Amino acid sequence: MDRHEVERRIAEHGIETVKIGTPDIDGVYRGKRLSTKQFLDGCEGDGFAQCDVVFGWDIAEEVITGQKLAIGSADTGFADILLRPDLATFRIVPWEPASAAVVCDVYSEHGEPVAVSPRTVLRRVLDRAAKLGYTAAMAVELEFRIFREDQETLRTKDFSDLRPLNPGYNCYSISHASIDDDVVGGLRRYMDAYGIDVEGYSREHGEGMYEMNLRYCDALEAADRGMLFKSGAKEVLAQSGAVPTFMAKYSDRMDGCSGHIHQSLWQGDANAFWDGAAPHHMSSTLMSYLAGALQTMPELFALYAPNVNSYKRYVSGSWAPTAASWAIENRTSSLRAITNGETAIRVEHRVPGADVNPYLGFAACLAGGLYGIERGLTPPPPAQGNVYETEGLPPLPRTLDEAIERLDASAVAREFLGDAFVDHYVAMRRWEVEKHRRAVTAWERARYFEQV
Ligand code: ADP
Repeated sequence: MDRHEVERRIAEHGIETVKIGTPDIDGVYRGKRLSTKQFLDGCEGDGFAQCDVVFGWDIAEEVITGQKLAIGSADTGFADILLRPDLATFRIVPWEPASAAVVCDVYSEHGEPVAVSPRTVLRRVLDRAAKLGYTAAMAVELEFRIFREDQETLRTKDFSDLRPLNPGYNCYSISHASIDDDVVGGLRRYMDAYGIDVEGYSREHGEGMYEMNLRYCDALEAADRGMLFKSGAKEVLAQSGAVPTFMAKYSDRMDGCSGHIHQSLWQGDANAFWDGAAPHHMSSTLMSYLAGALQTMPELFALYAPNVNSYKRYVSGSWAPTAASWAIENRTSSLRAITNGETAIRVEHRVPGADVNPYLGFAACLAGGLYGIERGLTPPPPAQGNVYETEGLPPLPRTLDEAIERLDASAVAREFLGDAFVDHYVAMRRWEVEKHRRAVTAWERARYFEQV
């Protein structure tokens, strides 16, 4: 989409407000709401000024201190960054009158791409894929839980004893999903009209839980769609008096919410993972990609599991993997090779939770896979049967603390994602670990209050 087409759509839809934003480190869509005139005056310029604190605070918007951050801190004077709209992402917001949205790349005041920006990080890895002759197609499948609450009731209830959209266990139940059609079907219809193609969705396991499968497309566009879906779902569901959560694990009594990433590499119109003459039609490119993804899984884990809460999801036998493994058509492994067709052949990475920042999750997947291709690695034989019961597989980090130390020491992460990003991410997550270390939780009070 070029400026001419943007102007045409603005006129056609009577757009008065354009939301410009970019993913922060947690994948939250942050930016501003501009008047259409302001947007059109500046949309092809150097970019719209935005305080760089969006990269220097935590998910609760507390400014990070005591860590050396190269951007977004008082040391740098909370300088401006520039949000430069990527006009190809321009879309009408169908649930809000006279509004459009656009995703931006982030530049410094000197015109350099900001290295810690998740969109820059993903672009960097995609450029590397392009140098090897590949484009990447990706999709994120998001699970989430919906509650009949709003911003205020969440807080008055202290985020507990919430009323789910629907009670009980009705996984894959057509009748239960149909009963929710006004709310959940409405969300899908709006997303379709927003340019986020939802292939289908299902009622999942337990209270208020749904999964929506976003259709695969070019990796950058797919990451944009992942972020816009999460942000948009919050807006759309609010109109029905409901609120979603994409927490990896909302309750220890219930299954976690995954954010599985499907991925394939392409050379022109051909899926590079397909080789009609090879066993299971798996090309040598796919085998090396799997080998790299497998080998780097522990060191890149913090990008799939970015929060303290993410680690609560990895429970043996729970559909979330606990070891690094690959297998063919097997949902107990962490990498599931799906080999069912010349265009559909792909890898499903089953580690990420719904709290994954899609840009960083995609970048990590591709970094691992491309590393394997560049080195010509060969994977071990595929795991068989119930992988939870297989002994001797490489374990995955069990805490954010551990994952962060692995990432900090990862030569692959530094080579593919850049030192500036890795240093920034590690510092921010160390802060998060420390925040959690000091928090006294309801679980601790219930367990120790009377007895110790
Ligand atoms: P589930 O894990 O829910 O069973 P499926 O195995 O049905 O999911 O996979 C569906 C997902 O795979 C969708 O998001 C779809 O768009 C995506 N997909 C299909 N083909 C490809 C491909 N070649 N590359 C990347 N993703 C793909």
